Amino acid sequence: MKAGVIAVQGDVSEHADAIRHAAAAHGEEAEVVEIRSAGLVPDCDVLCMPGGESTTISRLIHREGIAAEIRDHVAAGKPVLATCAGLIVLSRDAKDERVDPLGLLDVTVDRNAFGRQKDSFEARIDVTGLEEPFPAVFIRAPLIDEVGDDVTTLATVEDRPVLVRQGPIVGTSFHPELTDDDRIHELAFFPDERTEVAA
Ligand code: GLN
Repeated sequence: MKAGVIAVQGDVSEHADAIRHAAAAHGEEAEVVEIRSAGLVPDCDVLCMPGGESTTISRLIHREGIAAEIRDHVAAGKPVLATCAGLIVLSRDAKDERVDPLGLLDVTVDRNAFGRQKDSFEARIDVTGLEEPFPAVFIRAPLIDEVGDDVTTLATVEDRPVLVRQGPIVGTSFHPELTDDDRIHELAFFPDERTEVAA
């Protein structure tokens, strides 16, 4: 399996490790490619959009021609895991003119809304399809505000969605790569095997 991690900015190596571990748990070997320029995404089976700073990531993926390739990847039904700033970049509306969202995930987000209220925190969250709670790390996290009809909410914190799926896209407002638990990467990239989530 060839996995691309969008690496224009943000935490890349932690995702690469989590992808390798998730693949190994399913008897596969993942080759991880760091993506900073156009031309690499078309060869990837799965993609990861890391956290970081959504304004910067948005600007660079458009400038480098990666944005259009991400759209094609999703249109082909190939999996994407988008975490925190990655989720913001994929959203329909980030309510911030410095972010040009791709509109691939039918949610609106409030950048830093969790962060301003509570700063960073960790919560054990119940996730649809996972037997045990997941230790979710929230760092200046976006609040998922409106959720479209085609979006399934898989986990909430205080009744707010923090983990959503729409077709091949899984979006998290937290950082699943910052723990040793790779089940969110498995859920995103191996959806039928260990989880029973609606596509
Ligand atoms: N606050 C960041 C943003 O709005 C996201 C933070 C993160 O990815 N941990 O882009």
